[in-house]
Amino acid sequence: MSDLYAVIGNPVAHSKSPLIHARFARQTGQDIHYEAILAPLDGFVETVVAFRQRGGKGANVTVPFKLEACALSSRLTERAKAAGAVNTLVFEADDILGDNTDGAGLVRDIVVNLGYALGGQRVLLMGAGGAARGVIRPVLEHEPAVLTIANRTRQKADDLQQLFASSGNVVSTAYGDLRGQEFDLVINATSASLHGDLPPQPKGIFAAASLAYDMMYGKGHTPFLQFAQQQGAARLADGIGMLVEQAAESFFLWRGTRPETEPVIEMLRSSLGSP
Ligand code: NDP
Repeated sequence: MSDLYAVIGNPVAHSKSPLIHARFARQTGQDIHYEAILAPLDGFVETVVAFRQRGGKGANVTVPFKLEACALSSRLTERAKAAGAVNTLVFEADDILGDNTDGAGLVRDIVVNLGYALGGQRVLLMGAGGAARGVIRPVLEHEPAVLTIANRTRQKADDLQQLFASSGNVVSTAYGDLRGQEFDLVINATSASLHGDLPPQPKGIFAAASLAYDMMYGKGHTPFLQFAQQQGAARLADGIGMLVEQAAESFFLWRGTRPETEPVIEMLRSSLGSP
């Protein structure tokens, strides 16, 4: 019988994870079955328990359960501890190991796939939610000149600045105070694009050779990537690479083998009609 894995979320029907992991399994010759499970908003833990009883060996966790998954884990990896959120569960004999592969996925996409070195760069991270929090430590490990965090609710950016101050040069700010500053990499980790909105960043923030990265993806450019293009950002990237890379990191954790991500990114890009 195939080893059983799943993504658990609410909503979850839109998730590309079953498709991605099926491709990884075929590519690496691993015998797994991966499904999408819709958990009731008040029933995450029960859903995990039932899945484990059915023989589940591990799970990805998506919106809105990443914090609950963190609390449910009996052991956490260092990066999950730093992120305070879990997107990957490994069911061991006596333990549930919680990991967070989102940050590693983003950094691998930027550094390896896009060939963009982070060392010495001025990085702007917009947003202070779960996704932003998970990528701060992995970005700081590459020693950017500065990591500036801007958020609509300023206090949340300040809280993250304090939390990660000992890991690198981290600054927090309000969007309005970005006027007159330039960045080499601007990451949109807000959920504004989900609603077709643009975060309130001022004009003029993109340095000459800058990369604009939106964690969101879909058909055509997001409002943020359209803005970045108009503002002269040299390169644009959406979150498909991050999505596939975080999945590959989970797959590696479960199966001990690292799938090739490039063909899967290409396949998703063409099936979504993404630029
Ligand atoms: P959260 O709900 O935890 O956080 C949302 C963030 O967006 C908050 O900082 C919020 O600000 C901000 N925000 C929302 N709307 C606006 C707006 N109109 N203008 C400015 N700021 C806004 O979401 P997540 O952190 O979990 O996810 C963020 C994005 O990242 C989503 O689009 C998600 O799809 C994407 N993502 C992509 C992944 C991938 O693999 N590609 C993986 C994980 C996430 P405030 O604090 O003021 O409310």
